[in-house]
Amino acid sequence: MKLLPIAALLLATAAHAEDTVSRQIDGMYPQLDAIYKDLHAHPEIAFQEQRTAARLAAEMRKIGFEVTEKVGKTGIVAIYKNGAGPTVLVRTEMDALPMEEKTGLPYASKVAAAHSCGHDVHMTAWLGAARTLVALKSQWKGTLMFIGQPAEETVSGAKAMLDDGLFKRFGKPDYAFALHSWPLAYGRIGYNSGAVSSNSDAIEITFKGRGGHGSAPDKALDPITIAARFVVDVQTVISREKDPKEFGVVTIGAINGGTVGNIIPDTVKVRGTIRSYSPAVREKILAGVRRVANASAAMADAPAPEVELIPGGVAIDNDDALVTRTEGVLKQAFGEAQVFRMPAMTASEDFSLFVNQGVPGMFFFTGVYDPQAVAQADKGGKPLAFNHSPFYAPVPEPSIKTAAQAMTLAVMNVMNGSAAKP
Ligand SMILES: [Zn+2]
Ligand SMILES: [Zn+2]
Repeated sequence: MKLLPIAALLLATAAHAEDTVSRQIDGMYPQLDAIYKDLHAHPEIAFQEQRTAARLAAEMRKIGFEVTEKVGKTGIVAIYKNGAGPTVLVRTEMDALPMEEKTGLPYASKVAAAHSCGHDVHMTAWLGAARTLVALKSQWKGTLMFIGQPAEETVSGAKAMLDDGLFKRFGKPDYAFALHSWPLAYGRIGYNSGAVSSNSDAIEITFKGRGGHGSAPDKALDPITIAARFVVDVQTVISREKDPKEFGVVTIGAINGGTVGNIIPDTVKVRGTIRSYSPAVREKILAGVRRVANASAAMADAPAPEVELIPGGVAIDNDDALVTRTEGVLKQAFGEAQVFRMPAMTASEDFSLFVNQGVPGMFFFTGVYDPQAVAQADKGGKPLAFNHSPFYAPVPEPSIKTAAQAMTLAVMNVMNGSAAKP
């Protein structure tokens, strides 16, 4: 009989925790909004995030974190110790993309870089979560390890931080979280257990021929036709060799060769990207690309091409136990309908490098668009700008609030082994 009041009390306190967190974030929102618009208007590309890192470092010091700058070139590490408990890593990326912004927003970038992947949303939510966690420090015990990672877009910042001794100098965390804005309705949170992002490998192939006059192809060896054959034939690796139930993509995004119409060039350079989830599929595609490149040259009796396969991002593997544990607290806070499991994305991310050091991790997505606009787009209406579009324009409020709240609750939940206490 005594269980009933205790159960009721537990429910009441759990509900109280979400309310406390959301009240904190509501209270600080005007400042977060100003920081967001400032970061958005001043984007910096990979490994050039000087101003951005300085701004985040200053904000984190104000909150009470011990901040180390220039970890992995422009990265920052902010530590907050609050008694005995787990160490939880929370990552934000800081870099923008080298592209022109076309949103027309009053706070749009005016330089040749843009936050078209929402890293400014992540930084602001990261600051909001840090501030909320410190404000509610009586409700959890442990160490916060908030990191500002450079160069996510070039899939090189996580490696730079690890190579600079991130886990040796600051300790290896017990859990790791990161979030990413996505063209979902704001208020929605999606994630997956297992693979969430793809393996990414770059291809660079130089086909070698022998230059000559366009009117006398017999006196030359034409690398343009070799490259053209390769571009078409390489797709059979995907359609005829890969298991059709498994994800795998080869895209050739650039062909460079020749200058004018009547000269056969010496060489043609082809560049592309390969995406996959499973290591076996990745190996199969890499081997297939190399074989088709060699065969295309051999068919023309040309010298073997130079084939460079450059490894990039490794697929993120979300920890099943951590996902299940976090899912509970997110559903309680945002409601069953708003929190859902979504398929893995075909893009790549280097958050996987932290997780692959043996740290259970969870990477989740938060929505940024008006639910009505999303519903219209789903019905075939105006499509919404995807990440990396020059028109990508997250709605700051409530997107940032939801992201900050979700991250705070996820961290508190693992610090306490249960929902926060009042
Ligand atoms: Zn991106
Ligand atoms: Zn991104």
